[in-house]
Amino acid sequence: MSNEQHTIRNNIDKINENIIKACKRAGRDPGTVRLIAVSKTVPPELIRLAYDCGIRDFGENYVQEMLKKAEVLPEDIRWHYIGHLQTNKIKYLAGRAYLIHTVYKTEHLDEIEKRSEKEKRITELLVEVNIGNESSKSGMSKDRVEELVKKSLDYKHLKIKGLMCIPPFLDAEETRKFFKNLRFIKDCINNNIGKEVLTELSMGMSSDYETAIEEGATMVRIGTAIFGERKRGG
Ligand SMILES: *Cc1c(COP(=O)(O)O)cnc(C)c1O
Repeated sequence: MSNEQHTIRNNIDKINENIIKACKRAGRDPGTVRLIAVSKTVPPELIRLAYDCGIRDFGENYVQEMLKKAEVLPEDIRWHYIGHLQTNKIKYLAGRAYLIHTVYKTEHLDEIEKRSEKEKRITELLVEVNIGNESSKSGMSKDRVEELVKKSLDYKHLKIKGLMCIPPFLDAEETRKFFKNLRFIKDCINNNIGKEVLTELSMGMSSDYETAIEEGATMVRIGTAIFGERKRGG
């Protein structure tokens, strides 16, 4: 085994252990938490090593990078689009991304519907919530999420699965209230609609995924803790 393979395997083992422990603390079934390996800026060779450790969910932030990697990597990889969503890039994502995490406006829904219909596919998505109300971040403002979720139910070629957030960059304990809040918003919306429309919560990164799991995350997006520090971007 190469050094890199060894490191990546150790990292993934450790994270899986931590996920199980966090689930135990929260009285949850570890099978309800999906680990998404965030592979932005990571070359295909290293992604392949994580794949060989059993990872099938990968998160990418740049559309072209994702498409290029998808071409050279196994077909059973589920590619999650977690980058800032530009309407003019949706045509590349519809039918290709397993899940789009970062929808935040009606224009996105319109375009996803149009492109998915063309591909005769249903695109699954999450609505990104600007949970810390930060002007520097994209995402839907908290008080308008319900409106967007309800609107999404009118479309035939897309399916809303849940909510996603990137809280302000604080330590794990400080992010807890934002995770709690996202879960609260999800529960309120489901209540008001009278149906469990939202089942997924995509929240938690390398520094705070255990807290996120304690607060109900069903998808954690982890880059650095698997692949090491990124050299550029992200
Ligand atoms: C880069 C990124 C991550 C992973 O962050 P790490 O701290 O490296 O785990 C998760 N989510 C989003 C949206 C990202 O852009």
